[in-house]
Amino acid sequence: MANYEKDEAICLRVIDFSETSQVVTLLTRQAGIVALLAKGSRKMAKAGTFSFGAPIDQLARGEVVFIPPRGAAELGTLTAWNLLDHQSAVRQSLPAFYAGQILCEVVMALLSPNEPQPELYDELVAGFTALAGSQTKRVFLSMAKSVLTSTGYQPHLENCLVCKTPVRPGVRVQFCPQSGGACCIGCPAQSKTLHVDGGVLLALARLPSPTALFAAAASKPADAAALRAAGAVLVAAIEAAAERPLKTRWALDALFGKSKTI
Ligand SMILES: [Zn+2]
Repeated sequence: MANYEKDEAICLRVIDFSETSQVVTLLTRQAGIVALLAKGSRKMAKAGTFSFGAPIDQLARGEVVFIPPRGAAELGTLTAWNLLDHQSAVRQSLPAFYAGQILCEVVMALLSPNEPQPELYDELVAGFTALAGSQTKRVFLSMAKSVLTSTGYQPHLENCLVCKTPVRPGVRVQFCPQSGGACCIGCPAQSKTLHVDGGVLLALARLPSPTALFAAAASKPADAAALRAAGAVLVAAIEAAAERPLKTRWALDALFGKSKTI
């Protein structure tokens, strides 16, 4: 007898599988990432309704019932999808939508399949709720940092990894994606590094998680260049952890604005 699981999930990726079905990659709260075949999800019944209410969209959150995949390379089966939040605010804000695209890839790049991360799930739900508000870039940074931290890649931002000298605002410092940490300009660093103001790394270190973000008032509005530099640091850390460039890198310029330097 099939083993049905009931859970809540965010849709990270949708691939049209046939004229009538989709393959969805979901981040479920209790079971982590699962890839499921949503049979008939694109097919309209005679009554004019879809089997899951509507085809499933990336970023949407819903209650799900599914039969889990038997192995990492196999597909499970989605048997019910009850839409909770279509993220319409995120869809209507281009920067928030771009941020959502990047975050979906980041979650898929860093989480292993079937690895439960309920706390991260709750952070991402809080983040998506706030993403289309007035602090899109800050919420994005907080969500990306949460994914890194939850998957064991928390960046080391407050001291030089080599000589332990504290990072200070106003002092340029290196960030080494391969070792995931700060390094003085004069200390030997591994491979390719980013040069940033120490204040950017300290602000990132102190950035609260999405669920705590609005309880903690921002000390002062961050300027666009600092936010862009913080984004570059986190994306470099994510790409080093994933051991590949992000396909959604194109969306970073749209989110943070273009700059020749960080
Ligand atoms: Zn040093």
